[in-house]
Formats: sequence, C-alpha cells, structure tokens
Amino acid sequence: MGKEKKVLDKGFVKIIDNMGDDNRVVQSARVSYGAGTTTYRRDRELLRYLMRHEHLSPFEQVAFVFHIKMPIFVARQIVRHRTGKVSEISGRYSLLKDEYYIPEAFRIQRQSKDSKQGSGEPLEEVQAYKVISEMEKVCYDAFQQYGNFIENDGLAREEARFVLPLNTYTEWYWQMDLRNLFNFLHLRLDSHAQFETQQYAKAIYELIKPIVPISCEAFEDYILNAKKFSAQEMEIIKRHLLHIEEENILSKLELSEFKNKLGL
Ligand SMILES: Cc1cc2nc3c(=O)[nH]c(=O)nc-3n(C[C@H](O)[C@H](O)[C@H](O)COP(=O)(O)OP(=O)(O)OC[C@H]3O[C@@H](n4cnc5c(N)ncnc54)[C@H](O)[C@@H]3O)c2cc1C
Repeated sequence: MGKEKKVLDKGFVKIIDNMGDDNRVVQSARVSYGAGTTTYRRDRELLRYLMRHEHLSPFEQVAFVFHIKMPIFVARQIVRHRTGKVSEISGRYSLLKDEYYIPEAFRIQRQSKDSKQGSGEPLEEVQAYKVISEMEKVCYDAFQQYGNFIENDGLAREEARFVLPLNTYTEWYWQMDLRNLFNFLHLRLDSHAQFETQQYAKAIYELIKPIVPISCEAFEDYILNAKKFSAQEMEIIKRHLLHIEEENILSKLELSEFKNKLGL
C-alpha cells in the first residue's frame, strides 16, 4: 500500500487501502455458485470464465481506496462514475493551494475536425508556448485575486473560490470495487476519453495490476481489447469465417463458445 504514481505536472494516484485480490473473486464465485457446479475448474480458468460470461458480481468483492490529486475538470469526469465513493477536500473549509495544471506543449492542440469532443492537430511550437504562457498568467492572476479576496477583503473561502479556474488541483479519496473499476478503466483508457483523464486511468491500472493480475489479464482479453459487433457486422464476419477451426488461437472450449456466438 502507499504506492504512488505521478500524473500530469502536479498530480498523483496512490493506493491507500485494498480489500481482496484474485483469490477473493474465485472464493466468492464458489460461494455464490455453490460446490459441485464450478469447483472442478482451476482458479484462473474460473476467473476467466466469469469475465468471459459477464458473471461480474464476484469482482465486486474486491475494492480499492485511492488518494487522487487531479485537476477539477478531470475530477468532474471521474465523479460521473456513480459507483465510486468520494471524500473530497473542501474549498469552503480549507485554503486552496495555488496549484493548477499547465499542459506540456505537445498537448496544445486544435479542435478536432472529426470529433466535437476531441482534440486534433498540435499547434505550431511557437504558438503552443504562447498559449501556455497565457494560461499560466490567467491562472496566476486568478490565484492572486483569490488570496486578495481572503486577505484584504475578508471574503469567505467559499466565495473567494468563485474566481478559480477548472484546472485547479483538487484531492480526494475514491473507493471503487473491481467490477465498476473495470467499467471505469474500459471507458477512460479508451483513446476517445480526454487525454488527461486517460493518464489517471493508466496510473490506476498500473497500480492495481500487481494486486489482481489474473483479473486484469481477463479484463484485457474479454473487455478492454474485445469489440462488440452489430447484427449486420456479424453477418459479414460469419461469411468470412469458414476456416476458424484451423486457427490455433482459441482453446477447444473457447472455439465452441465462439462458434455458438456466431451461430455457426
Ligand atoms: C468518452 C466519454 C465522453 C462522455 N461525455 C459525456 C458528456 O458529454 N456528458 C455527460 O453528461 N456525460 C458524459 N460521459 C459520462 C458517461 O455518460 C457516464 O456517465 C460515465 O462514463 C459513467 O459511466 P457508467 O454510468 O457506466 O459508470 P457508473 O456510474 O460507475 O455506473 C456503473 C454501472 O452501474 C450501472 N448504473 C449506475 N447507475 C445506474 C442507474 N442510475 N440506473 C441503471 N444502471 C446504473 C450501469 O450498468 C453502469 O454502467 C462521457 C463518458 C465518456 C467515457
């Protein structure tokens, strides 16, 4: 515990606590499905079976508490994952530190042409550094004003913060069970997720992987690197999959499940 990953310019993710590991998933599956139904399966096989068939409740028996320091705009995305439990620093109670996220030059990008939400081509280097320096000035001024409101005008901290920017760093404890953490990681490791939020998802994933390696392997195989296909796409795939038995990628069981899925 206490392992930390640095993220962005001033952020971090740290594991504060964790309950259970791969064994807990397997034990709770055996309890819930009962002896006789699954005990013949070896632990790794059983765990992969659960993930493959979306029998995901045993993964809820494993949980993590993270200490995360992130810009407010990242926190706003993470908090949308309603299954997480949050205790956040209070800007009413505490004086907020003048810590704000300033991106590196490569991250200064134009609006994407293909995606209304995403970023596109990088700006020219000179222009990128101009943008960075303007961002720094605006944030510096905002924090100066925040301090002035509190020190000189006697304003309440809960009001003085009205002028602070979205890239101000906040901190929280975030508790998440493994099932819903995998859902979070699936959505936020994706290349369509905001770059900065992706960096937090990567750090979280690197921290949990040594604790639940077999669950993570199954997550990568059956969720992260798997794809869903529409009915029409499935038709095309079926037509082109006449020789799947010759491929040695899948086990016998997996091959038969695959053919079942394809209706072959
Ligand atoms: C790339 C990207 C762009 C996004 N853009 C926007 C945006 O523009 N605006 C916006 O508002 N949000 C946006 N979101 C947030 C998104 O809509 C989800 O709210 C967020 O990703 C949380 O996902 P979740 O509901 O699966 O997770 P959680 O809230 O952790 O829920 C986990 C699972 O629990 C179940 N669940 C949770 N709550 C309920 C419920 N009330 N009823 C039924 N089932 C429930 C669902 O199965 C859900 O998948 C975006 C997310 C991503 C990844």
